[in-house]
Amino acid sequence: MFIPTRPAGLEALHDFVPRAGADYRRDRNHDLGPARTNVSGLSPYLRHRLVTEEEVVDAVLDRHSLHAAEKFVQEVFWRTYWKGWLEQRPEVWRRYRREVRDLLASELPDGYEDAVAGRTGIDAMDAWARELVETGYLHNHVRMWFASIWVFTLGLPWQLGADFFLRHLLDGDAASNTLSWRWVAGLQTRGKTYLATTENISRYTEGRFAPTGLATTARALDEEPFPHAEPITPEDVVGEVGSRVGLLLHDEDLEPTSLLAALGPDVPELRATAVIADAGARSPAAVSPLVEAFTTGAVADAAARAGGADGHPATTLGGVDVSTVVDWARSGALDTVLVPYAPVGPVQERLDELRPTLESDGISLVTVRRPWDSRAWPFASRGFFPFKEQIPRLVRGR
Ligand SMILES: Cc1cc2nc3c(=O)[nH]c(=O)nc-3n(C[C@H](O)[C@H](O)[C@H](O)COP(=O)(O)OP(=O)(O)OC[C@H]3O[C@@H](n4cnc5c(N)ncnc54)[C@H](O)[C@@H]3O)c2cc1C
Repeated sequence: MFIPTRPAGLEALHDFVPRAGADYRRDRNHDLGPARTNVSGLSPYLRHRLVTEEEVVDAVLDRHSLHAAEKFVQEVFWRTYWKGWLEQRPEVWRRYRREVRDLLASELPDGYEDAVAGRTGIDAMDAWARELVETGYLHNHVRMWFASIWVFTLGLPWQLGADFFLRHLLDGDAASNTLSWRWVAGLQTRGKTYLATTENISRYTEGRFAPTGLATTARALDEEPFPHAEPITPEDVVGEVGSRVGLLLHDEDLEPTSLLAALGPDVPELRATAVIADAGARSPAAVSPLVEAFTTGAVADAAARAGGADGHPATTLGGVDVSTVVDWARSGALDTVLVPYAPVGPVQERLDELRPTLESDGISLVTVRRPWDSRAWPFASRGFFPFKEQIPRLVRGR
């Protein structure tokens, strides 16, 4: 269903653009199953930046006014908002990671195995669990219903549900996933929960599902408070760029052309390019074969596109351990490894491990953040409402 290449992502965008205006506004909340065309299906491409948010919004605004495509553009900015919010509160991710690890290492709660195997006896939940495992995708409304039933009807820990999603969604993303689950559970907007109801599910699945026995109340979960938000660093490029530069792409950003353009006229000549991905780092448990296959395919596509002037593809590094990257940098006699900035999540954790080892070899790890993120993230310090007020300003400069 989802071909892991940039051309496939651009084709999906091209096909969807005519429907991104009034059609999307009217139909986006309905879910009629895997043959759906009312939403874009672009998330696996955006997640890996095979296609960028900027390209998506540009293509849509070339065809529609911002007013006509407001809903769709706002949804794309939800992704940006969640990333900017988590960037300012990395401890939310770190605590989630610790809690998932501890939960999976302990006796699993009653009902967990049935929920992930599609055996709860709630027909809708069971069908959605199977759809997730078989396709790597769920519609947004389904994700909300699923998370709500998981937490409030089945009484399962939200962290294990978020982990189940992260292991199976092709678009599995630290910020969008963790914070959406928290939002459903009443932790993100404190005290405000999302309750899935039979009537709402039946209406938006057009009668495909009408599960009974769902929780009728949703009491918000509680948690220890987090430290204060950290500001977004002002610099787009962090680190000293030397004279022997290699580019290391990773699965948070696989589009080198526009990334390097963000450096302006000072693009250094590249001696070597490599691509790494580590879908397995998304969870302490195994990620699904579909997620592995999508990420591997996306990396191969990026390597082919990022190839050198000699026409050979970039190097795909077999492993993501620190020594593999260090060996690649040493063999190219590099003094600088340029990487797309990795937002809070598994790739950032890897880069944090890599940095000191490279530095001890005299190689600096330089991060490049895209202007899209730099402009928007500082506004993601509070709720989505004040953030979305900035959207006209954020897209005007395009
Ligand atoms: C519990 C839960 C977990 C989620 N986990 C993820 C996740 O791991 N990765 C992920 O990318 N999205 C996640 N989402 C957000 C959203 O469901 C998906 O981005 C969307 O369904 C993707 O389908 P689409 O590309 O057809 O979306 P469209 O409706 O066509 O939207 C276009 C793009 O906008 C962005 N977008 C749309 N809605 C949202 C949203 N609510 N939050 C953030 N970005 C959005 C996506 O990048 C999407 O590709 C989650 C939502 C919930 C409720």
